Amino acid sequence: MPRMTQQKPLQPAPSGFATLVPNHTVTPSAMRAIPIFPAASAASRRLEFRQSPPLSLYVHIPWCLQKCPYCDFNSHQAEATIPERQYVAALIADLQTALPLIWGRPVRTVFFGGGTPSLLSPAAVDELIAAFRALAMLAPEAEITLEANPGAIEAGKFAAFRAAGVNRLSLGIQSFNDHHLKALGRIHDSGEARRAAQLAGEHFAHFNIDLMYGLPDQTLAEAQDDVTTALAFAPPHLSCYQLTLEPNTRFAAFPPALPEADLCADMQEAIEARLAADGYGNYEISAFARPGNQCRHNLNYWQFGDYLGIGAGAHSKLTLHDRVLRQMRWKHPKAYLDQALAGNPLQEEQHVEAADLPGEFLMNALRLADGFAPSLFEQRTGRPLATIFAQLKSAAAEGLLDIGPERIVPTLRGRRFLNVLLERFLVAGDDAGKTV
Ligand code: SF4
Repeated sequence: MPRMTQQKPLQPAPSGFATLVPNHTVTPSAMRAIPIFPAASAASRRLEFRQSPPLSLYVHIPWCLQKCPYCDFNSHQAEATIPERQYVAALIADLQTALPLIWGRPVRTVFFGGGTPSLLSPAAVDELIAAFRALAMLAPEAEITLEANPGAIEAGKFAAFRAAGVNRLSLGIQSFNDHHLKALGRIHDSGEARRAAQLAGEHFAHFNIDLMYGLPDQTLAEAQDDVTTALAFAPPHLSCYQLTLEPNTRFAAFPPALPEADLCADMQEAIEARLAADGYGNYEISAFARPGNQCRHNLNYWQFGDYLGIGAGAHSKLTLHDRVLRQMRWKHPKAYLDQALAGNPLQEEQHVEAADLPGEFLMNALRLADGFAPSLFEQRTGRPLATIFAQLKSAAAEGLLDIGPERIVPTLRGRRFLNVLLERFLVAGDDAGKTV
């Protein structure tokens, strides 16, 4: 991370961007966070962003009651209790240091992710949302999602989270089959999963159920049963992922017997067909929603919008007037607590090379069933579409993309083989910095 030194004030940025002028009404710790960058490389300085993308706030809670053997998220097994008071204070201090970078920008969505955010007390969630309202420009109609683990909830908590301002719940159910839940090392059983889904429907108009398929020894019928059970609770949104073996997980070290690729493909097609028949739109690779219930937070990621991530290991992507900034908070909860409370939450920071922006944009936008508008590409990358037109045409020639005057859309084949579609847009190794 660059050494932060006091220098002469930066020129005010074009309107619509945080005016990075020190000595403004910001706290000393926020002053330290005002980035005074060494001259960015010529390549990135050629970028010019005329408007800032929508802004989201991601809040990471890095603790779980038990570590699942397939999980590579930044989550740590909690001791008896989590240091809630300290962590809430650290999150608020973290947000304060970031304010100059998001000054004057409305926050459209908030997402409490983890780990297991439902380990937090409703009082802590209430305090955090109040702090977001007081410190940042939380939009009145903001979507505020909290991830919950069916094994870590008491009945009353959902009502209290709702009262604290959470208006969307995301339930990590994964399966309603006890045999598979045990194989996944989940702390909840099928009874708790059903009860959580029931409660979610009672307290939240907007809720999501996460399901996984391609589980150890799972059959096609069992995967379909999980979807049928989930639909009985009429969730407005479902996320259906295939279990993958991630590096540095217990499953990677001791791989369980997973269904063959063809069987997993059959499961995916069966799930898509069933949900389409029930009126769910498959708007992203693994996301399904009834009309009007798409997840706005994730949509903002997929449309290459901006997000500020606070909490241990949280990532941020922020567009300034002449560059795109990526940050990571201190990853280990202990380091994060110490550093964030000392006004120094950043473990890593860098600006994205102009040459990398098209690939980063497409890795997100081509996950969407309706792809993207050419104008959005230019707005969010600061690059003309012409820089990737040759690759777009070759992808269209291979039947992976449809290029229309209004939208550039992945075909079903392009969605099934997204890696193949994307590889032509990604700048490899020593080509970095060369324009695509
Ligand atoms: S509950 Fe979720 S975040 Fe926690 S270990 Fe399991 S998969 Fe990972």
